[in-house]
Amino acid sequence: MIELKNVNMNFRGNQTLKDINLTIEQGEIMVIIGPSGSGKSTLLRMIIGLLKPTSGEVWVNNREITQMPEDELNKIRLEMGMVFQYSALFDSMTVGENVAFGLRQHSDMPEEEIWRTVRRKLRMVGLRGKENAMPNELSGGMKKRVSLARAIAIDPHIVLYDEPTAGLDPIMSNTIDRLIVSTRRMIRATSVVVTHDMSSAFSIADRIAMIYGGSIIEIGTPDVIKQSENPIVAKFIRGAT
Ligand code: ATP
Ligand code: MG
Repeated sequence: MIELKNVNMNFRGNQTLKDINLTIEQGEIMVIIGPSGSGKSTLLRMIIGLLKPTSGEVWVNNREITQMPEDELNKIRLEMGMVFQYSALFDSMTVGENVAFGLRQHSDMPEEEIWRTVRRKLRMVGLRGKENAMPNELSGGMKKRVSLARAIAIDPHIVLYDEPTAGLDPIMSNTIDRLIVSTRRMIRATSVVVTHDMSSAFSIADRIAMIYGGSIIEIGTPDVIKQSENPIVAKFIRGAT
């Protein structure tokens, strides 16, 4: 479970997030939507402890992480996977080593099992046989899928996806959507998905939260969002589909 309590984030005097209160249940898929610059990536970075809020509390699985010493925070991070908006692969490592990275840090899994897992996760994202390729030999969409395989390699309890389908064709986007849903089903992962793709949002979300100007202006099931009487939400959904 993830809880944000009265979270504020200021960057050089600009209030990027304003008094955010949000609870994401274990096993839930929460989709975050909102215009560019509204604070969606900032919110994810806060959940994984890469950013500390200016004020307020972030709780992950009933532990408050904002005041936690770095070594304890690192342990909690090992239970989380994140797909970064800009894929953030290690360019000097093969695709396979990128995916294996978390597994090596996380466990003393035997080498053979690591590679079995790596190959399975790469198959799941449609990259069978790519383990020996270097990241710079891949397209942007393929890199994105490698970072997805890396994020789910450790079967994390929490997975954060920042624009997981950006730059992918419709068929591959659909594959990734199904993967997000099946990851939740298989490991009961709590998932937070930032996306601009409204059809994807409506098809995978248990709930959708819309951020606007640093605040959550609407939250609810896809049906609630579709029927929102807030004109900003209605306009955003129409514009984004
Ligand atoms: P997009 O849809 O374009 O990815 P976003 O909703 O993810 O946008 P954020 O990346 O969270 O938006 O940024 C929100 C605001 O916070 C922006 O105005 C951005 O300039 C500012 N911001 C984010 N990170 C920093 C930082 N490290 N230092 C200063 N300002 C920042
Ligand atoms: Mg972003």
